[in-house]
Amino acid sequence: MRADLHTHTTASDGELEPAALRALHAEVGFDLLAITDHDTVAGWATLDAAPPLAGGPRLIPGIEFSAADGRHEIHVVGLNIDPRSPAFMAAVDAQQARRRERAERIAARLQSIGVALTLADAQRHAGAAPPGRVHFARALVESGRVPDVESAFRRYLRHGKPGAVPHDWPDIEQVVDWVRAAGGRAVLAHPQAYDLGRKRLRELVGRFTRAGGEAIEVALANLRPDQMAQSAALAREFGLLASAGSDLHAPSQFWRLPSKVPQLPDDLVPVWHDWV
Ligand code: MN
Ligand code: MN
Ligand code: MN
Repeated sequence: MRADLHTHTTASDGELEPAALRALHAEVGFDLLAITDHDTVAGWATLDAAPPLAGGPRLIPGIEFSAADGRHEIHVVGLNIDPRSPAFMAAVDAQQARRRERAERIAARLQSIGVALTLADAQRHAGAAPPGRVHFARALVESGRVPDVESAFRRYLRHGKPGAVPHDWPDIEQVVDWVRAAGGRAVLAHPQAYDLGRKRLRELVGRFTRAGGEAIEVALANLRPDQMAQSAALAREFGLLASAGSDLHAPSQFWRLPSKVPQLPDDLVPVWHDWV
């Protein structure tokens, strides 16, 4: 069973249209695919409304919610949710409103230091999604103010820079509740991405588990063997199901291509064990 349960499309900050993402996974021979765009299921909805792709992967409805753990931002992937349940749709709307409000504040901050960039400029790079920092970065590149996206973050958008606006995300309990109320499983996304160190990461996994989280990402593209072993050990210690994914945002990210998603260790129970 090959599963990629963490991906992004143009519905959030990815570069591939949902159909192109699915075609890529069909080519590599995936059985299961979850589009887990940031705080939206619009990418999933596009494919759900389209004809199925013969021989393509089965689609698992998914989302990647942003949440607050104290002052830190963490990500919770919700899998096998019912995207049409009213409470879930209200939760997605609330997250989208938070993103729009932040985008307005980023635009205002940049304008206040004399950067002639509007919300609409960033919106052109964001498609239907509320613009995030990467979309402002692309607009800054387009305006000729910086040579590349990395420079845009370094000069304007990174923490401590003029365009840095903190998020106001809901806490882990809230986000896990949304996923569970929609009939889904909450998965702690990319545990190594938070730069927490062994002890604090273990504490985070404890809080996540007590909140009702059921799974943790173990088999991710672009992980060192010791990092994957660390996540596997946390799954065993806390009795969590294990998930697998690429977190692909763009086909140019060769280190995150779906073909780079490793197999789960044999002794772990896959998060999809009772879906297939
Ligand atoms: Mn992203
Ligand atoms: Mn993430
Ligand atoms: Mn992601």
